[in-house]
Amino acid sequence: MTQENVLSEKQQLKRGRTWRFRDQLLDWSPEIIEVEGEGPRVGMQKPLLLELQEQVRPSGEGGAGGAGFGPGMPVAAAALALMQDIEREVADRLWSLPRPAQVPEKLAQRIQYWVTCLNDRPDLIDECYTVLGGWVQRINDLFNPPTVVRLRRKCPACNLSHVWETLDGERVQNRALVAAIRPASDTPVLVECRACGAGWCGPSIHELEELTRPQE
Ligand SMILES: [Zn+2]
Repeated sequence: MTQENVLSEKQQLKRGRTWRFRDQLLDWSPEIIEVEGEGPRVGMQKPLLLELQEQVRPSGEGGAGGAGFGPGMPVAAAALALMQDIEREVADRLWSLPRPAQVPEKLAQRIQYWVTCLNDRPDLIDECYTVLGGWVQRINDLFNPPTVVRLRRKCPACNLSHVWETLDGERVQNRALVAAIRPASDTPVLVECRACGAGWCGPSIHELEELTRPQE
């Protein structure tokens, strides 16, 4: 319990954000819905994990998923792949956590347990924050794909302008600097370098613009 006192302000902020990711993934939350002709009304927003699970098993039946899908359902296939990634990742993480009296079986319970462990293990905050934040973004992207703009600039961090990528099994050369636009999210614009992984968002995009301005 004394560890609570040694949490830096930055860590506390990160832990708070991790809690929010957990809520978005696992909890029902109220949201305002505009109904035409009737004005605003309070509805309930589904947890992201449940939304993903329903994509994988739309009927609510058990089953391994995937079997019932015909061709031409890329969202369901992507949802299944993402679901499997999350399940695998959670199973791996459980080994690095303190052993509970009873190992939680359900995916949601396992995620909940991981977040609960942060109270006594501040050293786990960074990783949990990164992983949960990544899931929230990947699930949101699946249902609301971001607008992607490739920038005709060199990355100021690695100085590369292009990167080789594999698209549908083919090697293609693409611009390295990519802006992803997600109007409804916490980071409406995120610029990333596909070559070195450097990223810019919010006010740091001004910096990026200055650093990469073409020399006249
Ligand atoms: Zn780069």
